[in-house]
Amino acid sequence: MRVIVVGAGIIGVTTAYELATEGFEVLVLERRGGVAQETSFGNAGVIAPGYVTPWAAPGMPGKVLSHLFSAASPVILRPTLDPRLWRWLIRWVGECRAQRWRLNKRRMQRLAFYSRDRLHHLRGRHHLQYEQSQGYLQLVRSERELEQLAPVQALLTEDGVPFERLDAPACRRLEPGLSTLTPLAGGLHLPEDESGNCPAFAGALRREAQALGVRFQFDAAVQSLRIDGGRVTGVQQGSQHHPADAVVMCAGADSVMLLDPAGIRLPIWPVKGYSATVALRPDAIGPTRALMDETYKTAITPMGRRLRIAGTAEIGDRQLRLRPAALQTLIKVASDWFATAAPWSQAQYWVGARPMLPDGPPVLGSTPIQGLHLNLGHGSCGWAMACGSARVLADLLAGREPAIDLDGLTLQRYRRSP
Ligand SMILES: Cc1cc2nc3c(=O)[nH]c(=O)nc-3n(C[C@H](O)[C@H](O)[C@H](O)COP(=O)(O)OP(=O)(O)OC[C@H]3O[C@@H](n4cnc5c(N)ncnc54)[C@H](O)[C@@H]3O)c2cc1C
Repeated sequence: MRVIVVGAGIIGVTTAYELATEGFEVLVLERRGGVAQETSFGNAGVIAPGYVTPWAAPGMPGKVLSHLFSAASPVILRPTLDPRLWRWLIRWVGECRAQRWRLNKRRMQRLAFYSRDRLHHLRGRHHLQYEQSQGYLQLVRSERELEQLAPVQALLTEDGVPFERLDAPACRRLEPGLSTLTPLAGGLHLPEDESGNCPAFAGALRREAQALGVRFQFDAAVQSLRIDGGRVTGVQQGSQHHPADAVVMCAGADSVMLLDPAGIRLPIWPVKGYSATVALRPDAIGPTRALMDETYKTAITPMGRRLRIAGTAEIGDRQLRLRPAALQTLIKVASDWFATAAPWSQAQYWVGARPMLPDGPPVLGSTPIQGLHLNLGHGSCGWAMACGSARVLADLLAGREPAIDLDGLTLQRYRRSP
C-alpha cells in the first residue's frame, strides 16, 4: 500500500517510521528543507507524561483576562477580528470546566504514558542519541507557591506518578548550578520524566525510516488533497500529482487549509511560544535535568552543552514574529537561575506555533474520507505524545487494534458536537 505523509515535523517523521515498519511504501512530503523545521524545532524538549494537561483548565479564562495587558505574562491573549479565533476561544472556555478538564487530561495522559514507552522502545532498538537527560524539577520561588503545589501533588499521587517534594537545600543539592541569589522555596522532582532535543531525535529517526525505504521529499508544499468518490487518491504538489492509497495528515496547524475543502473542519489554532538557545561557558555548571520555573512557567532544558529556555502561550494572530517582551522574560528567568553560566546576549531566539485544539487531546485516525487519516493537534505536548500517536496510526492502517483505548482521541469527538 502506498501511503503519503504530509508534514515532517516530529509527528510526521515518527508516523513515517512506524508505517514503514509495517511494510507500507511511504512518501513524506514536507514544504521546508528538512525535518522538524517548524514547531518541532525549538520546543522545550520536556517529556513529562504526569504533567501532560490541557490548557483548557479551571481558572484559566480568569488568568488570561487578568494578564490581558501584561507584556511579560506566561499566557497572553491578543484578540484579533478573525472569527475562527473567537469560535476557538468560546469552545476553549467551555472546555475549562473542571469535569471537562479532568476528562481531557485523562485522554492526553493515556497517550503520553504510552508514548514514553514507545520512545524508550525506539531509543533502545536504534541506540538513538538526542541530547537526552533524565528527571524533571519544578522550582517555586515563594512559600505561597509551594503551598499551591498541594493539588498538583494530589493528582500525581492519584495517577501513580513517582515524585518527591523537596525543600530549597535539596533542590540545590540536585542542581548545584542554581544561583543562590534567587529566592527558592522548594520544588517537585519527578525522577521518571525526561527531556531531549526533539529535532535531533527526528533527524535520527528519519535515517532509520530511510533505511526502511521511506522517501522524503523536501521543499514540497502540498496544495490540495485529491478526492474521488469519497476516497482519497493522492495529493497535488505544484504541478505534480502523487498517487496514494492512503494519506496521513501531519501538517500541524496548517492541516486545516488542506482539510477544509474536504469538509473536515477542525478548530486547530496556532498558539505561539518562544524559546532561546545559548551555549554554556566551558567551565559553567548548568542544569543536569529539565527545570520548570513555576512562577514564570518557563522551562530550562539542558541540550548537551547548550541551554534551551522556553515558554509563553500567546493566543492571537497567525504571524510568527519574535516579541521582545517574551524573549526578555526567557533571559530573565535563565539568568536568575544561572547568572553567569552563559553569554545571554548571544542567545538564538525562536518562535513557534503549537497546533492546539480547544479541548487539548490530538485527533488520531480515520476520517469520513476513505483512506484519509489524521495525526494532528498535539498542542503543547507533541514531542511527548509523538511516538505513541505514530504507533497508533500504524496499527490502524495495518488493520490492528491499537494498544491504547482511543476514546476521546479521534475525530469522533468533533463529529458528535460540531
Ligand atoms: C515554545 C514551545 C515549547 C514547547 N515545548 C514542548 C515540550 O517541552 N514538550 C512537548 O511535548 N511539546 C512541546 N511543544 C509542542 C511541540 O513542539 C508540538 O506539539 C509539536 O512540535 C507538533 O509537531 P507537529 O509535527 O504536529 O508540527 P510541526 O513540527 O509544525 O510539523 C508540521 C510540518 O508540516 C509541514 N507542512 C505544513 N503544511 C504543509 C503542506 N501544505 N505541505 C507540506 N508540508 C507542510 C510544516 O512545514 C511542518 O514541518 C512546545 C511548543 C512550543 C511552541
